[in-house]
Amino acid sequence: MKDKIHPKYNRVIAHCACGNEFEVGSTKEAIKVEICSKCHPFYTGNKSRVVDTTGRVDKFKKKYGLQ
Ligand SMILES: [Zn+2]
Repeated sequence: MKDKIHPKYNRVIAHCACGNEFEVGSTKEAIKVEICSKCHPFYTGNKSRVVDTTGRVDKFKKKYGLQ
């Protein structure tokens, strides 16, 4: 039997545009998301946060030189 059944599946830290970080399972080394359980309107119950999140995403992308 092989020890590594899922050699490319790792536990990585996902960085959300809202600043929240959480651990997820992924085949990637790093994860960047634009919304998470802490800023998603479904969880917060406040739709106005969506507008605020959009602005943060833009700043987030500029900060890390993403397009
Ligand atoms: Zn978030």
